[in-house]
Amino acid sequence: MWYRSKYPEYEIRDKQKYLNENYPFDDVPELNDKRFCICCDTWIDVADYKVKIVLGEEYILCPNYPKCNGSVIDWCNEDYEGNINMDGVLINVSENGD
Ligand SMILES: [Zn+2]
Repeated sequence: MWYRSKYPEYEIRDKQKYLNENYPFDDVPELNDKRFCICCDTWIDVADYKVKIVLGEEYILCPNYPKCNGSVIDWCNEDYEGNINMDGVLINVSENGD
């Protein structure tokens, strides 16, 4: 097994502040939010995100890096079944009628 990280891991002191300043989209998640990573098909804790510097650029990555190559772009609010994660509980929000 070779899961050693290719790039130096960047230590973030204030992870929420870092997200606020570097998250590439408008809906900045909170550290206690969960997101579904479509790269590793797993619900992840936002607070566990990793940051790597690749060629001078900082990337916010899936907590499962380096096993998962996903980044914030791969994080969804819903999984494939239409579930959202509320405080660790999956709730189905897909519209199947009443
Ligand atoms: Zn992932």
